Amino acid sequence: MPWRTIGQEAARRFLARSLDVGRVAHAYLLTGPANCGKTTLALDFARALVCTGDPRPCDLCPECRMLLGAGHPDVEQIEGEVDEAPEFSALWKAGASERPRRALRIERVRDLIRVMATRPSQAAYRVATLDGSTVQDAAASALLKLFEEPASRSVLLLRAPAVEALPPPIASRCQVVRLGPVPTPQISAWLQSAHAVPAEDATVYAALATGRPGLAQRLAAGGGHTQLDAQVALWLEMASADTVTRLDQAAVWGRNFPAARAALDLAALIWHQLLQLAAAQDAGRAGTEQAPLPALQTPAAHVLRDRGIAVLGAQLARIARASRLLDANVQPRLALEWMMLGL
Ligand SMILES: [Zn+2]
Repeated sequence: MPWRTIGQEAARRFLARSLDVGRVAHAYLLTGPANCGKTTLALDFARALVCTGDPRPCDLCPECRMLLGAGHPDVEQIEGEVDEAPEFSALWKAGASERPRRALRIERVRDLIRVMATRPSQAAYRVATLDGSTVQDAAASALLKLFEEPASRSVLLLRAPAVEALPPPIASRCQVVRLGPVPTPQISAWLQSAHAVPAEDATVYAALATGRPGLAQRLAAGGGHTQLDAQVALWLEMASADTVTRLDQAAVWGRNFPAARAALDLAALIWHQLLQLAAAQDAGRAGTEQAPLPALQTPAAHVLRDRGIAVLGAQLARIARASRLLDANVQPRLALEWMMLGL
């Protein structure tokens, strides 16, 4: 399975071709929605760049095997550090160890610039992969140096939700490669073949994930179809529960970052589906749109759906805002409570 990216054929072809014709850019920016395959594609291309087999990546040569194993000396996979922005520290102290890594430290950028200036130690290219959203402020200014004096045979692979997520001086110097949503049948087939998910469940996860294989995989790993149905039912219940019940549940879902992330992701998927069902109903197509989850066909779901597009839309916006608060290092429980009180 040389390319591990699911779908994204156009992006894959473009990258493979730039390597085949020897026109590899110094920097690429892979853009697309969360969990659509940007990180996987960056690693696929990194492997292709250092691979000595044919076709590249081959998975079999020493370079490929090294990168798939403990890592390759010519490939840097750089993560951001925990951002200790003082305005947030009081809020997220409790869950600090579970924070996603955010900002890239300037010292790390300087190290990267030094490393990228040296010749590759054993492969044809020296490669670094980096989450573009971690490149902020001083780190961004420092990183520009890498673009101003790029070493030959050095390739930087940035990823971001959109071009606008990066400072313009950096984004404008990158070759942009756009990724899009992956077709649902393709995600379903992949869940079945690569992750041994039963066909019926795979269809549900793929439909819920709306084009994002990474999200479908996480749903599949969450304990199966029944477990997912139970979580959906709980969310629907919360929408009409009293304040005390909601705050109690916010404490459970907000106990740490991963739990809060999973709960909010699922809420976004549920409300997205409800909006689609409500829109179908408004357009006189009730019954033609099939909800992918049995839990979305229950009386509780119907009550919620019948509140109409405007209400559901406002609730979805609140879920999205809570999600951003979480990403901005607000304490998980606070983000959940804020969302629950306005649901
Ligand atoms: Zn290889």
